[in-house]
Amino acid sequence: MKDISCKLLVIGAGPGGYVCAIRAGQLGVDTVIVEMTKAGGTCLNIGCIPSKALIHAADEFEKALLAAEGKNALGITLEAPKLDLAKTVSWKNGVVGRLNNGVVGLLKKAGVKIVHGRAEFRDGKTVEVETETGTQVIRAETVVIATGSAPMELPALPFGGRVISSTEALSLAKVPERLVVVGGGYIGLELGTAFAKFGSRVTVVEALPHILPQYDAELTRPVAKRLGELGITLLTQAKAKGVTAKGDALVVETADGMEQSLPADKILVTVGRKPVMEGWGMEELDLDRAGKFLRIDSQCRTSMRGVYAIGDVTGEPMLAHRAMAQGEMVAEIVAGNRRSWDKRCIPAVCFTDPEVVTAGLSPDEARALGHELKIGQFPYTANARAMTMQGEAGFVRVVARADNHLVLGIQAVGQHVSELAAAFGLAIEMGARLEDIAGTIHAHPTQGEAFQEAALKALGHALHI
Ligand code: FAD
Ligand code: NAD
Repeated sequence: MKDISCKLLVIGAGPGGYVCAIRAGQLGVDTVIVEMTKAGGTCLNIGCIPSKALIHAADEFEKALLAAEGKNALGITLEAPKLDLAKTVSWKNGVVGRLNNGVVGLLKKAGVKIVHGRAEFRDGKTVEVETETGTQVIRAETVVIATGSAPMELPALPFGGRVISSTEALSLAKVPERLVVVGGGYIGLELGTAFAKFGSRVTVVEALPHILPQYDAELTRPVAKRLGELGITLLTQAKAKGVTAKGDALVVETADGMEQSLPADKILVTVGRKPVMEGWGMEELDLDRAGKFLRIDSQCRTSMRGVYAIGDVTGEPMLAHRAMAQGEMVAEIVAGNRRSWDKRCIPAVCFTDPEVVTAGLSPDEARALGHELKIGQFPYTANARAMTMQGEAGFVRVVARADNHLVLGIQAVGQHVSELAAAFGLAIEMGARLEDIAGTIHAHPTQGEAFQEAALKALGHALHI
């Protein structure tokens, strides 16, 4: 097979890698991308998209179920609904498949050459790929490592049998009667909530005192309350010790030091993700690390000249939109443009029920930096749109500097607040002050009005509370 020489080689076609390759192609850079599974990476195939599809299906099923149980206040009654999870999964696979083809089409349109197979480094500028038709050698002036992350295993709970990762949870053939989730973070709570709505009896085992420990307790309180309403048992300060001899239950050490067995048809382990860096020659390059991740500078350069790294392989926050933004920036740099990472915030959304969204600094983070603050918080109980959608739990909170009212952070918890991430990100990126948000006309009736009201509240003159 004839060797390929190119200007840019991207390893991994997840959101980081494929965006980098598309933008590089658009800029006229001769680009090759190597992917060993399917274009779209974790996010599109076994992460963001399939999980959000199942969460949507679970919401729809729960609504129908409540109507059938006579618990619908809107006057809708239904016969008891049935769930065919295999069909749900097949619909989810259809959504994934369409997006998958879309990514391949976009890469081709940008003139990017796609090579299927596992890349293995020969040296910092040369990789070998085992393809279906033989070994393909690719030489490049610049290499971007975008190999992403994989689920972390607990030594006492290796994956296999009833012990599953998020990947298997997204493609189960039937709803497990009893699901134990180890780890009350993003994945555990998003999927745990969805399976509770599908009908599983769910227990969440979290090692720390709070769920979603990266967020403050006020923000996660409505989520914890809803977990209780859905019948989810939450064990905090509990450690998973392993499975019982019969393998049909998880043994945990609870907060009081006692051992408890939790019978389970599936044990979903979601205790974080690790970078994909081993077994493909990257160790030989001896790139500098930041903890277990690759160390990068403000242009995503690694410690080796001409080798960049983007996305989950570079550490927290492991979010698809961060990987994409890094990928776009690196493509610009490779094309000769002057760019560096100057983002003010990376919004984050947790698709629990209710949803949580954050952008910028929390009150505690802002105080830790020595800022005097003005904080405004507006509850969804006072928002008309939330009432019309039966989603009154939650609030929007705006954190601003007391001296010049510059907005430092915005947080919200509530139904559908994920869609406010765009407004929050834009406000912080553009250096908005409280007066800018308060002075912007927000359409009525929308949940976004709570954003304006939170800014007004911080200024001391909220209108609707
Ligand atoms: P990845 O998406 O992991 O892609 C890396 C790609 O590299 C893979 O396709 C892999 O096959 C390929 N690869 C690896 N090694 C090689 C090699 N040697 N040769 C060739 N190819 C290779 N983030 C959000 O922002 N929002 C969400 O709602 C969200 N939900 C999630 C839900 C779940 C269940 C999971 C698991 C993750 C979720 N994430 C979410 C996180 C998100 O998926 C990641 O942050 C994102 O996919 C990282 O992108 P990436 O390009 O760095 O890596
Ligand atoms: P996470 O870091 O969000 O949560 C892991 C949780 O497991 C933490 O609460 C931690 O305290 C707990 N934990 C760790 N070890 C434990 C143990 N031995 N026993 C019990 N609990 C333990 O990790 P995740 O949920 O696996 O998700 C991985 C990453 O994927 C996230 O960091 C996030 O960046 C990304 N993700 C994002 C989204 C989103 O943006 N909506 C959704 C899913 C995943």
